[in-house]
Amino acid sequence: MWFIILTLKEKLHFSCCHCSERSSATSLALSLSSNMTSKKIIAVFGATGAQGGSVARAILESKKFAVRALTRDVTKPKAQALRDLGIEVIKGDLDDEASVEAALKGTYGAFLVTNFWEHFSKEKEVCQGKLVADAAKRLGVKHVVFSGLENVKRLSGGKLEVPHFDAKGEVEEYFWSIGVPMTSVRVAAYFENFLTTWKPVKASDGDYYTLAIPMGDVPMDGISVADVGAVVCSIFNSPEEFVGKAVGLSAEALTIQQYADVLSKVLGKDIRDAKMTPEAYEKLGIPVGKEIANMCRFYQTRPDRDVKLTHRLNPKVKSFSQFISENKGAFKGV
Ligand code: NAP
Repeated sequence: MWFIILTLKEKLHFSCCHCSERSSATSLALSLSSNMTSKKIIAVFGATGAQGGSVARAILESKKFAVRALTRDVTKPKAQALRDLGIEVIKGDLDDEASVEAALKGTYGAFLVTNFWEHFSKEKEVCQGKLVADAAKRLGVKHVVFSGLENVKRLSGGKLEVPHFDAKGEVEEYFWSIGVPMTSVRVAAYFENFLTTWKPVKASDGDYYTLAIPMGDVPMDGISVADVGAVVCSIFNSPEEFVGKAVGLSAEALTIQQYADVLSKVLGKDIRDAKMTPEAYEKLGIPVGKEIANMCRFYQTRPDRDVKLTHRLNPKVKSFSQFISENKGAFKGV
């Protein structure tokens, strides 16, 4: 069998190596080879994105499972990049029941991340999550790892609404209520946010920069999204320990002043906590100001994020200092 697969791979490679079909032919052979082994398949939603991409790569590297990457557009460059790694890529659209069903057919497990920020609709995110839960139930998928978060609205008795959390919380509850073997990973704030939306901003009254994250003096958990994949992979490897549980992922928890101190040290600039309150943050007039202010109000209650467990599941998880040192290039303008 292996001889046939290798021969097929080589044939496709050599006959097509000067034409544009080369990589798709090679990856067809690779995916054929991975699926023809006895490896169980894990379907990965969001594989062209940050979380799913990290998960797909970590599962591929661990070699225990075969990966089936799902995307709405199999022709996009990020889909091709996955194929180039030898990953099977097929169409999977969370708004299309038939494609979700087809994507999950024959799989042992699935990783699901839903992207609130693409549509800003709690209802849509809940609908997408439930669609996967129902399909997983029908098909008897053995282990789903869902990128969930707390249902803040329910936990706060309706006082606090954080739609991108609340939606994921509802989906978590739904998965468990219909009896799908599911583990929820509640991912802390990405360190990557500090390279984009939380990048230090130049102060108007002096030669320093500020971080405007309304946390007061309460530590905020964080993790590089690139480190999430290895954690999820460990969870797939230990279903008996994790099915039915929610696991909070965090590399470490720092106060905003401590995040600023790390940035100051690594970048050689004076960076400070802006010491903004959630109330002041809401008044900035930024599009999701209320949502982020409420998220920080919830973070101030210190939801369970397990630093020790995260390090056990991914011993290479990076500290914020390591992460910033490796990404100094992103701060050229600072
Ligand atoms: P991302 O890098 O923007 O990737 C989004 C992925 O979702 C893409 O791969 C996209 O695939 C896929 N997708 C979107 N709509 C889809 C649909 N209808 N059907 C199938 N796939 C679909 O996003 P991410 O950072 O990995 O994940 C975003 C989620 O993470 C958000 O819901 C957010 O709340 C959560 N989160 C973020 C943080 C943070 O600090 N930023 C922390 C915890 C949790 P295609 O376009 O290829 O189809």
